[in-house]
Amino acid sequence: MQVAYNGGMISIADRIEQVQARVALAAQRVDRSAESITIVAVSKTHSADAIRAAYAAGLRHFGENRSGEFEQKQAKLADLDGLQWHFIGHLQTRQSLPVAQHADQFHAVDRVKIARRLQRQLDQFGRNLPAYLEVNLSGETSKYGFACDQWETDTRQREHLLSAVATIADLPRIEMRGLMTMAPWGAADGVIRTVFRRTARLRDWLQEERPDLNWNALSMGMTDDFELAIEEGATHLRIGRAIFGERET
Ligand SMILES: *Cc1c(COP(=O)(O)O)cnc(C)c1O
Repeated sequence: MQVAYNGGMISIADRIEQVQARVALAAQRVDRSAESITIVAVSKTHSADAIRAAYAAGLRHFGENRSGEFEQKQAKLADLDGLQWHFIGHLQTRQSLPVAQHADQFHAVDRVKIARRLQRQLDQFGRNLPAYLEVNLSGETSKYGFACDQWETDTRQREHLLSAVATIADLPRIEMRGLMTMAPWGAADGVIRTVFRRTARLRDWLQEERPDLNWNALSMGMTDDFELAIEEGATHLRIGRAIFGERET
């Protein structure tokens, strides 16, 4: 399958190869193994056929951010063995059912309420859901996630986060895996790097506060900043445009 790129056409398989090479190079720069980094191909707005092409090229992790779109695509692609669905965007409580039923990982626990809701629905399906707390380090009000823009100095932010963690830890079907964050839009590399670095430190702090939970995962880095994210410790990259081309919508 071909996608438009810089006025020309290039196959999804070629683009995946380019992304994998860039991931390997960035990992090498900081002495990390590329195997410790999972590429989540963000397929939102793209067709089931585009996902099949990426799957044929070897990718197994796909990310969606709209509940209805996710539900349709997972039904169309149920024949693909080993495909893992990551739900990566803000989830409204009334739209949580498809995520409880079909998602393999949920990157956007941005409030306690959505975790409680998913817990009840997961119980019905007898499923567990690996989950990441979404944290907002940039302070942008347009972003979701627990407010952590001042976490190093603001005791209340830390207490609020720990109290949410305590509640979520009591929901047996929500399996804590780590943190997810988004870099500020259009910021300079240095600013983005700082957000990623502070997120990694927040993870280290949570690891000390709640060593009973799993904080290994750091979901951060997208098309424009995934190399910085790798250098700062990302374990899961959420990459859309670099794999599937520009989105129509
Ligand atoms: C769309 C989206 C991405 C991927 O963005 P690209 O810039 O296309 O790589 C990553 N994370 C989230 C939460 C998204 O909504």
